[in-house]
Amino acid sequence: MNRRRFLKGAAAAAAAAVSIRVLDRPALSQEPKAVGTSKAVLRLCSQEGIVPGKSLKEKVEKLQKWGCAGIELHGAGPGTKAVLDALKDSTIKVAALCWGSHNGDLVSLDPDKRKKGIADLKIALERGGEIGSTGVIFVPCFHGQSKLPPEELDKILLDILPEIGDYAQKVKCRVLLEPLNKGETFYINRIEQAAAICNKLNNPGICLMGDFYHMSKEERDQTQAFVTGGKWLHHVHLATGKSRIAPGQEPHSFIEGMKGLKLVGYQDFCSLECGVRGNRDEELPKVFDYLRKAWEEAVV
Ligand code: MG
Repeated sequence: MNRRRFLKGAAAAAAAAVSIRVLDRPALSQEPKAVGTSKAVLRLCSQEGIVPGKSLKEKVEKLQKWGCAGIELHGAGPGTKAVLDALKDSTIKVAALCWGSHNGDLVSLDPDKRKKGIADLKIALERGGEIGSTGVIFVPCFHGQSKLPPEELDKILLDILPEIGDYAQKVKCRVLLEPLNKGETFYINRIEQAAAICNKLNNPGICLMGDFYHMSKEERDQTQAFVTGGKWLHHVHLATGKSRIAPGQEPHSFIEGMKGLKLVGYQDFCSLECGVRGNRDEELPKVFDYLRKAWEEAVV
């Protein structure tokens, strides 16, 4: 290799190293501060599987009776017509589609797997747009679904997400990157890491969410975590940190995190993703009351 070629290669390698290390960036803001212009609202909801009921309509009716605002559906949902029929005559909206990782296919090195994963995510985004969902929850990979190091996964996401984000905007939906604790994935464990990707892409079709269960294990400061990702935050999951059960069913404070939601003027849904001890018809109304009380106590 001649010197000129070597220098050219070294410069390219250095540029690549700078461009892909998005996950190592420090927190975007060191001090919690208001980044939202609206007054935050608590819009409670639950994943569909947690709510007792023989049909989606029955679950929707229960959530409305308990004072909730939305329901989160599994995967790409049961189909546009089925969802719109269940929501007819109701104030309940679709909070999110909990879509997941598609076995890590979107970050796979196999072109066919990646193509299929992207196509299926786009179908979920289309459905989401049709049923008015806040977004489609996406996890790039769980443990065992990719052998690539985080820097390589960063590169793949930065490569595939701009087009997916544009498509999401076109169909009036958005991707919601979900950080998970290190027990579930080695990639994207904290909100600031997802926010670094969102900032880098700067595409309104690519946003993020926070999950109190994962945050309790990974975030040093729950308030700051939400503030750091506030610009891109469009969904929240609720569960306790130890046993991942319903809020109020074991000691776990939601107040510090809720302060963060208030500081960013959070307008989207807070959804149960947890186990429930006891009879759900009796316990769930208590869980929602507990969360309303915590929201009142989260004074900023
Ligand atoms: Mg979650």
